[in-house]
Amino acid sequence: MNIHEYQAKALLKKYGVPVPQGQVAYTEDEAEAAAKSLGGPVWVVKAQIHAGGRGKGGGVKVVKSLENVRAEAARMIGMTLVTHQTGPEGREVKRVYVEEGCDIARELYLGLLIDRATQRVTVMASTEGGMEIEEVAAATPEKIMKVAVDPATGFQPFHARKLAFGLGLQGKQVSAAVKFMTALYDAFVGLDASIVEINPLVVTGAGELIALDAKMNFDDNALYRQKAVEELRDEDEEDPSELEAGKHGLNYVKLDGNIGCMVNGAGLAMATMDIIKLYGGLPANFLDVGGGATKERVTTAFKLILSDANVEGILVNIFGGIMRCDVIAEGVVAAAREVSLHVPLVVRLEGTNVDLGKKILKQSGLAITSADNLADAAEKIVKAVKEAA
Ligand code: ADP
Ligand code: MG
Repeated sequence: MNIHEYQAKALLKKYGVPVPQGQVAYTEDEAEAAAKSLGGPVWVVKAQIHAGGRGKGGGVKVVKSLENVRAEAARMIGMTLVTHQTGPEGREVKRVYVEEGCDIARELYLGLLIDRATQRVTVMASTEGGMEIEEVAAATPEKIMKVAVDPATGFQPFHARKLAFGLGLQGKQVSAAVKFMTALYDAFVGLDASIVEINPLVVTGAGELIALDAKMNFDDNALYRQKAVEELRDEDEEDPSELEAGKHGLNYVKLDGNIGCMVNGAGLAMATMDIIKLYGGLPANFLDVGGGATKERVTTAFKLILSDANVEGILVNIFGGIMRCDVIAEGVVAAAREVSLHVPLVVRLEGTNVDLGKKILKQSGLAITSADNLADAAEKIVKAVKEAA
């Protein structure tokens, strides 16, 4: 799950990470009031969307009068902001953050993430703040420093000093960096984050360190114990079908292809997507209905797949282990009837009660093609979609 910059800053502040003063605003009136209470003389109006690169897209503006705070807020709220992270369709801005202007001497980069290779929280730092870290990694990888943290000891002052010296910090900036990074690490672990990115981390004219931008992603599987984080969810920023899927306990990720997939088990779902590609098709989604899916879940999954206008055919690939094939078949038939299926449907069932399952499909009178194995299923659906086109 992602949250907005201003929310991330509020969370980090509680852990002792220095951030500028600011207030969120949903209207230009609120923006002006926020600016007044912050005091000025310089403010920054920042569009709040779940994507970075806002500065380059016109979503971050430094202003020096209350009139301009108002004007920028009015311009941003309701606009569709396009950045390299939003895709060409952009995102509608519904709130802005009005923040005190900061006297920037240097812009640095600091990020924490879980490195799957080392299985450790890794702290990354770079002198190239304000730039996309992916670009830095591609062009000048030597400018990125990394420290992997042993979970048994946690983040240690020497980790921070090593990074601070590498960033060219001096004197009291080094002890400020130790405090800053330790607080950031504590927030990362304490909030079950998966990414925390401070870009830029700024050294001010007065030599202080401040988090000028903040991005946080969280581990969805830990949200049950992070109620305060869960409450920050902004459904406007999420894909509606993925949101709906989550509510029904389905793992759904929308993709760009035209063959909808309904599979049980993440591994089987991956394999199904691979084999669709192998036969020259493109999957429209990843969908794992889970091991113990019910008839209702199967129906919901079906509707979800069909709500995607790009879907021109559906492949159901279910292994009936915990879940019985006859239950799946009933779900598929019920769903196909309910949504009056208008695209080719290939079903491959295997496992418990498979014969009964196949019988139910056959007797339904619906245009459902049965497949005997994974390759057969993929070949049939790719062919059916091509023929229908
Ligand atoms: P994004 O990464 O989405 O472009 P940032 O919050 O990083 O958004 O802002 C982009 C740039 O705008 C920063 O690199 C910084 O130079 C400037 N900026 C952002 N916030 C402030 C602020 N409070 N005071 C001064 N400059 C700012
Ligand atoms: Mg940034």
